[in-house]
Amino acid sequence: MDKGPNRFETKVIHAGYHSLNYEGSLVPPLFQTSTYTFPTAEEGEKRFAGESEGYIYSRLGNPTVKVLEEKLAELENAEAALAFGSGMAAVSAVLFYLTKTGDHILCSEGIYGCTFGLLQLMKNKHNINHELIFMDEEETIRKAIRKNTTVIYIETPINPTMKLVDLEMITKIAKEYGIPVVVDNTFCSPYLQRPIELGCDYVIHSATKYIGGHGDVIAGIVAGRKEGLAEMAMTTLKDIGGIISPFDGWLLIRGLKTLPIRLDRHCDNAEKIAEKLKEHPRVGKIYYPGDVDFPQYELAMRQMKKPGGMISFEINGTKAEAQAFLNRCCLIKIAVSLGDSETLIQHPATMTHAVVPEEARLKMGITDNLVRLSVGLEAWEDIWDDLEQALEY
Ligand SMILES: *Cc1c(COP(=O)(O)O)cnc(C)c1O
Repeated sequence: MDKGPNRFETKVIHAGYHSLNYEGSLVPPLFQTSTYTFPTAEEGEKRFAGESEGYIYSRLGNPTVKVLEEKLAELENAEAALAFGSGMAAVSAVLFYLTKTGDHILCSEGIYGCTFGLLQLMKNKHNINHELIFMDEEETIRKAIRKNTTVIYIETPINPTMKLVDLEMITKIAKEYGIPVVVDNTFCSPYLQRPIELGCDYVIHSATKYIGGHGDVIAGIVAGRKEGLAEMAMTTLKDIGGIISPFDGWLLIRGLKTLPIRLDRHCDNAEKIAEKLKEHPRVGKIYYPGDVDFPQYELAMRQMKKPGGMISFEINGTKAEAQAFLNRCCLIKIAVSLGDSETLIQHPATMTHAVVPEEARLKMGITDNLVRLSVGLEAWEDIWDDLEQALEY
């Protein structure tokens, strides 16, 4: 991993692209086209028959998007990758590919809200059931695996309480049962965590977040096994049609070049902010994997390169006081999403996790006074000044 001229910081810039194949254009060109002309009818026939490699139509493939896909495959150390029009298009592509009516999906407790919505839909319309469990003990996982379990689906760290799942432990068990493991790696990006190197089969990203990094694109990525991705390309991507636009693909290629630099800064800023929050008398529980008192600090250090740029914390007070705290933030913007240059703050109980029934929400630790911070790239002192003044009440 990361040897020779192919270190991660170099790959984000150079992987998947050869300028001499593109008139020497230093930057991958934007192929903003819906279709491709065939030189002859016979060549058209060959392309449709899969006997010739050329492009046909941009829902079936686009040269700009292909550069992005090859980059992501290299960055995740996967056999291949596919780009989608949103993180949810990527999630649904993988789940539809790996399941059929009557199957069962085993999930980590606390998955992304719309993924939860998708699981409900799969259950109600297609009789594909699921179970959400805390994946901290080997025994719990083994007990929850059924004869018809065809996917283990994980998020780590789990939003918003940053609870981690031990990927090596899960893949060890999954391999005994021959069940593929899918990891939503959105919170880390391949710079901080590479599940495929730990034995997982598919990795999903909402590229909207750290991969894009500039808050101007909605997109998704799946990286993983070649056969699976080839099938997704011809079914859930081509026929359901959740493709990425070439321009959005181009913006992601641009965003990726600074992924390690940006994440280093996100992580450094988060570390400073977490230290300050910890000392503040109006702050209660803090959920940040880089805190030495975080219950899974050891696992975070083992599994992730750095603890990431996300912090959740309780302010001592009621829901109204938490909302008033958000309202007093000036530099920090009230918004969902994460991984942008701008520091963003949100209130999970009434925003990202509003659909979760109260009892389940509280069991997950999402209290009415919990807020989630996506630490941005501003000077950390300015981020802290804003938090500090907003905490005065
Ligand atoms: C945002 C997000 C998604 C969904 O991605 P979109 O690009 O918004 O469709 C999925 N998983 C996680 C963890 C996310 O944060």
